[in-house]
Amino acid sequence: MSQLKFDLHCHSNVSDGLLPPEQVAARAHANGVNVWALTDHDEVGGVARARKAAQALGMKHVGGVEISVTWCNQTVHIVGLRVDETDRNLVDGLAATRNGRERRAREISGELEKVGICGAYEGALKHVGNPDLISRTHFARHMVECGHCGDTKEVFANYLTEGKPGYVPHRWATLAESVQWIRGAGGVAVIAHPGRYKYTQTQFGALFDEFKQLGGAAIEVNTGSHTPEQYEEYAQVARSYGFLASMGSDFHGPGESRVDLGALPPLPAGVKPVWHDWDL
Ligand code: AMP
Ligand code: MN
Ligand code: MN
Ligand code: MN
Repeated sequence: MSQLKFDLHCHSNVSDGLLPPEQVAARAHANGVNVWALTDHDEVGGVARARKAAQALGMKHVGGVEISVTWCNQTVHIVGLRVDETDRNLVDGLAATRNGRERRAREISGELEKVGICGAYEGALKHVGNPDLISRTHFARHMVECGHCGDTKEVFANYLTEGKPGYVPHRWATLAESVQWIRGAGGVAVIAHPGRYKYTQTQFGALFDEFKQLGGAAIEVNTGSHTPEQYEEYAQVARSYGFLASMGSDFHGPGESRVDLGALPPLPAGVKPVWHDWDL
């Protein structure tokens, strides 16, 4: 089992990835992934397609999702693994979470107009694969296309984020809701890329405690969003809180993501993998 390659976090064009689920599956397989989860933002519309494609390639498939949550006035992402994507409570909860993206997108466009960037809403829409899921990533791609920035990373450094033009605060699901939807659908709740959040030490402690109390079981240790030093840092968090450890590239598309599908190193020693009791 230790020889298996896992990638339990990535995106298709059903949310803000560039490739359709079938092509993400093919790329994961080509990169040697054996156990794979597509975890689109706030949406399970690609999961059945992902499963079908994975099975045709002989890859183990895990039902996944990445839920947007607001905790302590910041956005946190909670990944759900092994979810039943047909679970009514999960499907309804995700639909409610997606609600409001459209209005927020129009507001983002209005804010960008104030700094002389016009037609961003219409421009972003051209990059959207799922009209229910317009994301800041689509704005970023549009702004690169128009030459406002050299790449999407530069867009997020200068626009669309707190304190920068085009930022619109938004209230997502609560932590309790996200964990309940995932667990109710038979899944495991995982804190995605903890190293990305700008919390104080005290706030991090409170987040981990609350997540654990709610029945959250795992955190991402190896992710495309962490540096190798952070793999060790969050392995230590996993050990001390008794969390299982997950890993996933957070791949969004060729040329856009720092880490390709299946390209992460194995988990650090001494952590219990989230798949430790999966029948693989
Ligand atoms: P949204 O859910 O619309 O707020 O968009 C969030 C998405 O934007 C994330 O899932 C990432 O794909 C992307 N994103 C956020 N921050 C950055 C960043 N600093 N660099 C590149 N992409 C980012
Ligand atoms: Mn994304
Ligand atoms: Mn995320
Ligand atoms: Mn992600």
